[in-house]
Amino acid sequence: MLLREPRDNRASDKALAPPAATEVLIVGGGPAGLAAAIALRKRGIECAVVESRATAIDKACGEGLMPDSRESLARLGVVLDDSEGHAFRGIRFQNSLHRVDARFASGAGIGVRRPQLHARLASRAEEAGARLLWNSRIQLPGSEAAADGLRTALVDGQAVRFRWLIGADGQASSVRKWAGLDRARKRSLRYGFRTHYRVAPWSDLVEVHWGRGGQLYITPVAADCVCVVFITRNPRCDRAAILSGFPEIAHRLEGAEIVSQQRGAVSATCKLLRVATDAVALVGDASGSADAITGEGLAISFRHAFALAESIRSGSLEPYRRAHRQIGKLPHAMGALMLTLDRWPALELRAMRAFASAPIVFQELLHAHMGEKNLGSVALRRGPRFGWDLLTNGART
Ligand SMILES: Cc1cc2nc3c(=O)[nH]c(=O)nc-3n(C[C@H](O)[C@H](O)[C@H](O)COP(=O)(O)OP(=O)(O)OC[C@H]3O[C@@H](n4cnc5c(N)ncnc54)[C@H](O)[C@@H]3O)c2cc1C
Repeated sequence: MLLREPRDNRASDKALAPPAATEVLIVGGGPAGLAAAIALRKRGIECAVVESRATAIDKACGEGLMPDSRESLARLGVVLDDSEGHAFRGIRFQNSLHRVDARFASGAGIGVRRPQLHARLASRAEEAGARLLWNSRIQLPGSEAAADGLRTALVDGQAVRFRWLIGADGQASSVRKWAGLDRARKRSLRYGFRTHYRVAPWSDLVEVHWGRGGQLYITPVAADCVCVVFITRNPRCDRAAILSGFPEIAHRLEGAEIVSQQRGAVSATCKLLRVATDAVALVGDASGSADAITGEGLAISFRHAFALAESIRSGSLEPYRRAHRQIGKLPHAMGALMLTLDRWPALELRAMRAFASAPIVFQELLHAHMGEKNLGSVALRRGPRFGWDLLTNGART
C-alpha cells in the first residue's frame, strides 16, 4: 500500500539514504514521531523516521506548551529557553460578561512557534542518533512477517527491514488504517484557524475567549507576537469575520501586521478501540486525541514516547497499550467538559459566571488538568457548591 501525502515543496534537507535495516521504523516526523525517536535512542534502540515533508514543519496549533509539557520536553533533552518563545503563567477564560484567571501552581508554560519547536526536536533526535529521512515516501509491506520476525517496507524505493512499526503520522494516519486499528469508540471534529499578529502580548496568561460559534485563544509566542486560534464546529466559518465576534480582541489587534501564513487544521476528539497490534503501535494524534482546547496534545505525544520506548525495550507492546489508556484519561475528561460548555452556550454562560464568583474552582481545575491535583477530589470538594452556583448565582447573568 502506498501511503499518500503531498510532498513539501520547500528546499530538501540533506538527503540521507534509508538504512537497510532498523529495529524501529517510525512513519511521521512531527512532534510525536521525533519524541518517540529520541526516547528510543535514549534507551539505545535503533530507529529511523520517515517524514514526507522537510524540516522545520509548521502546523496550525495554539503553540502553548503547558509546564508539564515543557518538563517532558526537558526530559527528552530539549530545554526551551524563555527567549525561544514567550513564557505564560496560567490560563484566563473570558466571555462577553465574565473573566476568570488561574495561575499554575509551579513553573511556567511557554508559547513557541511550531517550526522552532520542530527544529529543536529534529536536531535533538539527530544528535541522539536517530536516522531522519525527510521528504521521503514509504510503501508498507504485506501483513506477514518473515521467519526472523522482520518485515520489509520500501522507503523511496529502497527496502528497509524492521521489527517494530510506529505510526506517528497524525490525525489522518495511514499506518492506523493499514494496521486495522482505525475503529474508534468516539470521534468528533472541530476546526482550528491560526493567525500570528505582530503585537506585544498584553497578558502573561493564555487567554481563551468564549464566543458564539467557538473559542478564540491567544498564546504569547514572542515579545512582539501572539498566536491567535479560533476553534469552531463550523468548517465553513467566515475566516475574515472571526474577530468581529470578539470586539475586545479585534480592538487589540487592530492594525497589527499578520506575520505568518494563515493555516487551518482539524481538531479531533478521537478514542480508538486499540492503539497497537503485536508489532505496530500508534503515537501522538495518530493514536487518538482530545480536543485542541485542552492544550495538551504535545504533552500527550511526549508521554506516549516515553511509554512506547519502555514498552519496546520490554519486548512487548502490551505495557504501551495500558499506559496509553492511562495517559488519555484526564485530557479526555477535561476535553469532554469543555465540549459540553461549547455545545450548550447557556451552560457556558452559567459556568463562567459561577467560575468568576468562585475563582478557586477554576484554579483547582487547572491544577487537576496539570496532574497536580486529583480531578475526582476537586469535584467532590468543590462540586456541590459549584453546582449550586450554576443553578442559582450562575443564572443571574
Ligand atoms: C487548532 C489546534 C490547536 C492546537 N493547540 C495546541 C496547543 O496549544 N498545545 C498543544 O500541546 N497541542 C495543541 N494542539 C495539538 C497538537 O498540535 C497535536 O497534538 C500535535 O501536532 C500532534 O503531533 P503528531 O506528531 O502526532 O502529529 P502531526 O503534528 O500532525 O505530525 C504528523 C507528521 O506525520 C507526517 N506524515 C503524515 N503522513 C505521512 C506519511 N504517509 N509518510 C510520512 N510522513 C507522514 C506529516 O507530514 C506530519 O509531519 C492543537 C491542535 C490543533 C488542531
